Amino acid sequence: MGKRILLLGAPGAGKGTQSKRLAETYGVEHVTTGDALRANKDMETEYGTPRSFMEKGELVPDAVVNEIVEAALEDADGYVLDGYPRNLSQAEYLTEITDLDAVVYLNVAESELVERLTGRRVCDDCGTNFHVKFNQPEEEGVCDDCGGELVQRDDDTEETVRERLSVFEENTEPVIEHYRDEGVLVEIDGEQTPDEVFEDIRSVVDDA
Ligand code: ADP
Ligand code: ADP
Ligand code: ZN
Repeated sequence: MGKRILLLGAPGAGKGTQSKRLAETYGVEHVTTGDALRANKDMETEYGTPRSFMEKGELVPDAVVNEIVEAALEDADGYVLDGYPRNLSQAEYLTEITDLDAVVYLNVAESELVERLTGRRVCDDCGTNFHVKFNQPEEEGVCDDCGGELVQRDDDTEETVRERLSVFEENTEPVIEHYRDEGVLVEIDGEQTPDEVFEDIRSVVDDA
C-alpha cells in the first residue's frame, strides 16, 4: 500500500506545489478537490454549480466534495490529499472512509499568502504552478513543463483572496486544531524555499 498523506494549509501555503513533487516521489495519486472542481465548474448539482461558490471564494457544499473525494480515494493506492478537508464535517467524513499515514500542516503568515496568491500563475494545460516573483518560468507566460499558456485563476484576485482567507480562518483552522488535538499533526515552516519545505515533508513521510 502506498503512503496516505494529508497536506493541510491555507490557500497559497504551497500545497499544490508540494503535492505534485510528493506524488512523483512516492508514486501516489495527487487527489485535489480544487482541480477536480475546476474541471467540473458548470456541473449542475442540487445546490447549484461549483462555479457559483468558487467565484465568490466560498466553500462548495460538503455533499459535492465528499463524493469527489470518496471516489478518488477508492481508486488510489496511496495518495496525497490536497484541499480537503476544509471544515470539521468533511474531516469527520474523511475519518470514516480512510486511514492516514501522515498529516502535515504548512504554516505560512497571512501577508505572505496574499502575495503568493495574487502573483500565482497556473498552466492552462497541465496545472503546474508558477509565481511572477517567487517562481518565474524560463519564458514569461509559458509553462516550463509543457509549453502551455500561463493564466491567472479567476479567484486569485485580491478581493476573492481576502474572502478565501477568512473562510479558511473560520472553517479550516478548526480542522488543523482537531488533528493537533489528536496528536497526529506535524507542523512545517512553509515560508522556507520549496526545496527546504519538500525535504521537511519527506522526512515526516519517510518516518510514517
Ligand atoms: P487553494 O489551494 O488556493 O486554496 P483550491 O484550488 O484548493 O484553492 O480551491 C479553490 C476553490 O475550490 C475554493 O475556494 C472552494 O470554493 C473550492 N473548494 C476546493 N476544495 C474544497 C473543499 N474541500 N470543500 C469545499 N470547497 C472546496
Ligand atoms: P496552494 O495549493 O496551497 O494554494 P500553491 O502551491 O499553488 O499553494 O502556491 C501558491 C503560490 O506560491 C504559487 O504561485 C507558487 O508558485 C508559490 N509558492 C509555492 N511554494 C512557495 C515557497 N515555498 N516560497 C515562495 N513561493 C511559493
Ligand atoms: Zn504546463
